[in-house]
Amino acid sequence: MSAYLEFRKITKRFPGVLALDDVSFTVERGTCHALIGENGAGKSTLGKILAGVYTADSGQIMLEGRAIAPTSPLAARALGVAMVHQELAFCPNLSVAENLCLGDFPGRAGFVDRTALRARARTMLATVGADIDPDTLIGTLSTGREQLVQIAAAVGTGAQIIVMDEPTSSLSAAETADLFRLIRTLKARGLTLIYVSHRMEELFALCDHITVLRDGRHIATEPIPATQPARVVTQMIGRELRVHTPSHLTRDLGPVRLKVKNLSSPGSFQDINLTVRAGEIVGVAGIVGAGRSELVQAIFGLDPAVSGHISIDDHPLPLGSIAHALAAGLGLVPEDRKRQGLILGLNCRENTALAALPLLTRLGFVRRNAERALASRYAQRLRVKTPSLEALTAGLSGGNQQKIALAKWLARDCDVLLIDEPTRGVDVGAKAEIYQLLDELACEGKALLVVSSELPELIGLCRRILVLRAGRIAGEVSRAAFSEATLMQLMAGVNAAA
Ligand code: ADP
Ligand code: MG
Repeated sequence: MSAYLEFRKITKRFPGVLALDDVSFTVERGTCHALIGENGAGKSTLGKILAGVYTADSGQIMLEGRAIAPTSPLAARALGVAMVHQELAFCPNLSVAENLCLGDFPGRAGFVDRTALRARARTMLATVGADIDPDTLIGTLSTGREQLVQIAAAVGTGAQIIVMDEPTSSLSAAETADLFRLIRTLKARGLTLIYVSHRMEELFALCDHITVLRDGRHIATEPIPATQPARVVTQMIGRELRVHTPSHLTRDLGPVRLKVKNLSSPGSFQDINLTVRAGEIVGVAGIVGAGRSELVQAIFGLDPAVSGHISIDDHPLPLGSIAHALAAGLGLVPEDRKRQGLILGLNCRENTALAALPLLTRLGFVRRNAERALASRYAQRLRVKTPSLEALTAGLSGGNQQKIALAKWLARDCDVLLIDEPTRGVDVGAKAEIYQLLDELACEGKALLVVSSELPELIGLCRRILVLRAGRIAGEVSRAAFSEATLMQLMAGVNAAA
């Protein structure tokens, strides 16, 4: 008996990169098959080949014993294969119903039958249990609900295989739970899911098999019960992961470098007081919407409406001015690094060196050699996967873009660094490198204020954690008292004393 779905020696090359190198494995019908690997391992490329977005240079995909080679997403749909994309896949200014029926509007004599359109959309939404008004504009939906419409479109058009590329990366906990329920229902109906993610807990809770890719090569395909997270991590990164205990924690703290007094911004946060000393890493925890990003952005001068006082090394900092913030030695690594942190039209070397330009410039000329040395040092440390430092940043995978953006700010010699979600979107190997880098920066006497949604990350890294709730500091927890439960109670506003 032949396998349901089989990848045979799939190879795909992009200019300068061998994205997939002779990849072979099989997928069973009615299972959820995890595809895992570090950023740039080739997961999305493989999914896109199956879904007809790219075509392989060589190799075959066999579906129920027959070779398929979809040359477009539409051709893949006809074969029963659909892909749920992370980025917006629909027309934002059309309604849910219009998007669901794109390419096949019900109608007669050139007129769209609106009633039939709505009815068909409703049926499609119902198959995935989505309670969404078909008249809603796609652009107004949350990512989670937009994704649900994508799944409805896939299921509603008869897809038997659905590729999901990092579906939970921008979902809330509740949306994620809903998605998992839906995936289980789809599986029970006999659908096959290829689930791309690097969130280990998810994979182990949800999937039946796991395939690990590394540098475009197939490393292993195993049943989930036969493996464990530590083994998968080793397969992903090709070495044992060192657990790093931060050494800044054992050092004496220096004087206060960043001082924030009575900082308020209408609608974002109120009356924030905090200090960060030289050699200290202070964490900021809070749920989405608590005002964490708004706070660090305001400290960096991005919020014109802010009031209060900020000082750096005892010198008052004029509010609302990035120029003054930069001159005072402040740096911000923003959360949305793609949009705020990088110039995608520049190459990796230029992007990395961008923020450090003042340091690399002499008499108005950029010292290219120094720039190159700096860029390659950080690119190596963060294990950026790029054919060369001269490659365009836009061609890199998301996680690698994140790393370049981070490298850019780490390369600039800031005294006070504000870092929003230091490891969002980066893989486990690079995470460890980033933690070590932050530790080194603290040991050098820099002051770091780190916003993160991952509590284990803050617990591992910080000396103190401030918890923000509804724009106010709800509490401060020192290292001796760190626990996820304590922090979560403060984040959610549950009375910890009770
Ligand atoms: P993953 O999804 O595992 O993070 P990708 O499949 O996106 O990895 O990328 C694999 C490799 O192929 C990376 O080195 C990436 O930079 C490269 N790559 C992916 N898509 C393109 C493209 N359209 N053009 C050039 N290079 C690409
Ligand atoms: Mg990807």
